[in-house]
Amino acid sequence: MRVAIIGTGYVGLVSGTCFAEIGHSVTCVDKDEGKIAGLHKGKLPIYEPGLDEMVRTNAEAGRLSFTTDLTAAVSTAEVVFIAVGTPARAADGQADLSYVFAATREIARAMQGYTVVVTKSTVPVGTGDAIERIIRRENPTATVSVVSNPEFLREGAAVDDFMKPDRVVVGSNSQQARAMMAELYRPLTGNASPILFAGRRTAELIKYTANAFLATKITFINEIANLCEAVGADVREVANGIGLDNRIGGKFLQPGPGYGGSCFPKDTLALLRTAQDHGITLRLVEDTVAVNDARKRAMARKVMEAMGGSVEGLTVAVLGLTFKPDTDDMRESPSLSLIDALQRGGATVRAHDPVGTEQARRYLDDVEFLGDPYDCVEGADVIVLMTEWDSLRRLDLRRIRGLVRQPVFVDLRNAYRSDVVERFGFRFTGIGLGAEQ
Ligand code: NAD
Repeated sequence: MRVAIIGTGYVGLVSGTCFAEIGHSVTCVDKDEGKIAGLHKGKLPIYEPGLDEMVRTNAEAGRLSFTTDLTAAVSTAEVVFIAVGTPARAADGQADLSYVFAATREIARAMQGYTVVVTKSTVPVGTGDAIERIIRRENPTATVSVVSNPEFLREGAAVDDFMKPDRVVVGSNSQQARAMMAELYRPLTGNASPILFAGRRTAELIKYTANAFLATKITFINEIANLCEAVGADVREVANGIGLDNRIGGKFLQPGPGYGGSCFPKDTLALLRTAQDHGITLRLVEDTVAVNDARKRAMARKVMEAMGGSVEGLTVAVLGLTFKPDTDDMRESPSLSLIDALQRGGATVRAHDPVGTEQARRYLDDVEFLGDPYDCVEGADVIVLMTEWDSLRRLDLRRIRGLVRQPVFVDLRNAYRSDVVERFGFRFTGIGLGAEQ
């Protein structure tokens, strides 16, 4: 099938490339000329494991192309995906739909023949209806179906998630559109992944509900981690002990410095605004947002406590900056709150991230970035492990012990065992690791 993807970011580029990989003819569109020029030279605008090779082979095979010319791409496409950003509006936290609606207007004017317009961007309930209204207004003779097909891929594992989805959600009541979406995904859903047809509003809400649930699960175990510290229990064993129960499941039970990234923070806020607009209170989600915000700030206090109450005049080495490993995405990373609070507390911050430094520079001031973790910890008074990149999980602790000024290790991901770190002469603080007497 001929597919156009509008927006060539984390979701658009991965989706477009994977659709090409399963045999479709895909044009990825972005208004950012720099991104498209880079892609023409084989330079990806994002870091995502395995993606560059897939882009290269599909581009070479002639199934995947890149352009800034939306009209040309849309006019020949049977299916057009909207995969532009929907960031939180500064004023109220609701999803900013200006990019979605701007893309819609352009699509409406470019469409030719029956076209399925699909929102892959995460959009509030009712956005599909609004998109349909815009298209009918801009192009009254257009034959179109507007479908919701939310994306559940995770950055860092995006290609795998797209190719082997747990489920594909398709929100539409049009039989013709459902058939085309089923055909589009057939190579993926033909195996094991179910395709779930629903109404459009229901599909839109499934996405927000999934993210709010996952954010709540993380926040829940983070609060239990606090309790573990207070009562002398080990949160890793608690998580394992409950996660083996099928009704609970072991995923998303790793405690840490609070969730971040480009989805959970903005999607939980947007869901709350939607609920408020309809006179509904989602108290659990409200608490999740508040608890998570407080937690991100509290991580700096954890570092201060490890240093006897203050980091004034001390050098902190932060290892890992992105909100999770295997991505360069810095949006809403907990490292931003941590570093801000440490700097306010009078610390000098040095930082290392395997791939996120370029993005991190846009968000952080007065931080010295080091390309090597050992250079980063040199002369540090305390090391904070922020993101559990593989390369940061297996540091040579003996070597580090010889480089630091004070041997203090704060592991906000429980990537290390306390007894191992302590054996090298460090004082160790983890998350939720209360000492059992
Ligand atoms: P992104 O910011 O990485 O990419 C968006 C791209 O759209 C940018 O390159 C921008 O230049 C382009 N764009 C904006 N307006 C355009 C227009 N009119 N025409 C052409 N290009 C345009 O965003 P992302 O992280 O890929 O997220 C996209 C959507 O997918 C969001 O709604 C997000 O919530 C959702 N989502 C993201 C993830 C994720 O892990 N990042 C996962 C699931 C869903």
